[in-house]
Amino acid sequence: MKTRMIFLGPPGAGKGSQAKILANKLNIPHISTGDMFRYHIKNNTKLGIEAKKYTDQGQLVPDEVTNGMVKERFNESDVKDGFILDGYPRTPEQALYLESMLNELKMPIDIVLNITSEDEVIIRRITGRRTCPVCGSIYHIDNFPPKVPNICDKDGATLVQRKDDSKETIMKRLEVYNKETYPLIAYYTQTGLLVDVDGNRDLEVITNDVLEILEQK
Ligand code: AMP
Repeated sequence: MKTRMIFLGPPGAGKGSQAKILANKLNIPHISTGDMFRYHIKNNTKLGIEAKKYTDQGQLVPDEVTNGMVKERFNESDVKDGFILDGYPRTPEQALYLESMLNELKMPIDIVLNITSEDEVIIRRITGRRTCPVCGSIYHIDNFPPKVPNICDKDGATLVQRKDDSKETIMKRLEVYNKETYPLIAYYTQTGLLVDVDGNRDLEVITNDVLEILEQK
């Protein structure tokens, strides 16, 4: 299925985990600006050094930096078969930039999935989240623990907590989400592309729900 979709929703609503599963199932690239920034930060690139100033504080990286990085990603040929954008756009300016870029490429968005969740659930989810620094797999200490505590099932690496997953940074990220990203819900509702998906369910149930939504589109 050549679907071009956006995953919208607050941090910790499960967008990343769901986007990874679906991208695999649909055989399309998963484009996560958060993952791209983390890659640059890990490799100490110029962009990474700039981005770290913001990500560590739970702030958004400036639009021109983010848009430039996304534009470059869309130069790659794999996007022509569809894609999942996860964590982008996150501001009205990014949404406008994306729309004009995709219009030029003649690849308009088909659907925007708004993964919903409540603040308490989000805080519990994010503080318990652990990721593998090697393969990027995501676990949760209660909901989705690895077989051996703190060790990645896939490659045996010791799991880490993302620096921006501490409680204070989450509160900041939620505040930024409500102010900067929440308005995009109205924007995409108006374009008729938005579909709400209840994120407070098991990953597998959500995946099946989304696949059904895509079938009906
Ligand atoms: P995420 O993994 O999507 O929660 O992103 C982690 C961090 O990367 C965010 O808290 C921001 O600092 C930065 N980031 C990711 N995507 C964007 C974006 N679209 N615009 C600005 N900053 C972003």
